[in-house]
Amino acid sequence: MNMVVLDGYTLNPGDLTWEGLQQLGDLKVYDRTDFSPKTVIKTIGDAEVVFTNKVPLPKEVLTQVPNLKYIGVLATGYNIIDIETAHELNILVTNVPDYSTNSVAQFTMGLLLEMCHHIGDHNKAVMNGEWTKSLDFCFWNTPLMELAGKTMGIIGFGRIGQATAKVAQAFGLNILAYNRSKDYSLESETCKYVELEELFKKSDIISLHCPLTESTKGIINKQNMSKMKDGVMLINTSRGGLIMEAELREALDSGKIGYAAVDVVSSEPMKKDNPLLKAKNCIITPHIAWATKESRTRMMGIVSDNLKAYISEKPINIIR
Ligand code: NAD
Repeated sequence: MNMVVLDGYTLNPGDLTWEGLQQLGDLKVYDRTDFSPKTVIKTIGDAEVVFTNKVPLPKEVLTQVPNLKYIGVLATGYNIIDIETAHELNILVTNVPDYSTNSVAQFTMGLLLEMCHHIGDHNKAVMNGEWTKSLDFCFWNTPLMELAGKTMGIIGFGRIGQATAKVAQAFGLNILAYNRSKDYSLESETCKYVELEELFKKSDIISLHCPLTESTKGIINKQNMSKMKDGVMLINTSRGGLIMEAELREALDSGKIGYAAVDVVSSEPMKKDNPLLKAKNCIITPHIAWATKESRTRMMGIVSDNLKAYISEKPINIIR
């Protein structure tokens, strides 16, 4: 069985092994593949199995790779695949639903702690010799903030939202959760479901953990930001499209939003003219919340298990 990985580098830049998949067939791994359909068609060639993380597989590609029987998405989100066409052509599509929950929750708290203490900036200042010139035993260059007793609004209370809430509660934060559906068994003294308006009004920190859909696109916009507390902190480890970036830039520059920390932007890799790039009080990381070695190892295992299950005709993690 011929198998091709179109863009394997971010999953395995060299610190993991493809052995699990190699045992199941003849595997060719490309670090990256140009997104043009012509190149993708040529790269897939006569393979029966293809793996993609971000390389799109639209109708134009799927209809011109007649041997293809299986698409393994190297991620949770599968919006890059034309699922309807894949189904029409009897191509099975699988994804990896839950591999990075703890890593993303941990990273979310990392961003929050960075906004509270500016550890990176203070380290830089010390390394630049500022402490050696200090008149006092300590100095700080930014306001520092304690979390206990503050309120964190979580938009999207699924796997990552709930895992984040658990850690946040250990820091003494009270959680206001907003989700499409509600599981009231998750409520407690320090965690309550609210409607979006109340979440905006009462939160000191707002963290986004819902998927990017038509109804969540641009949910952080000028109108909704005007309902928030002055100086609120915003965290986005979900998808860049949830935020109207030019409007957030204005809100950061005016101080309406006190600080923002985002791991994702609307177009990745980030464009030079992204309005957040020069915004005041903004931390940006290059979509790394998922990328711990532990979570990539977990993904590699699930990707192999998905293919093994397909080979033994008991497929799992199917996109229907
Ligand atoms: P999940 O499906 O477990 O949770 C998402 C929650 O959002 C669900 O409870 C769902 O009911 C809710 N939801 C859906 N639409 C909604 C709406 N319109 N309003 C309110 N709630 C809505 O997903 P998850 O595993 O927690 O992942 C959350 C998001 O995190 C993913 O969609 C993905 O975009 C992002 N993510 C980012 C990284 C990263 O590296 N930065 C890694 C993994 C996942």
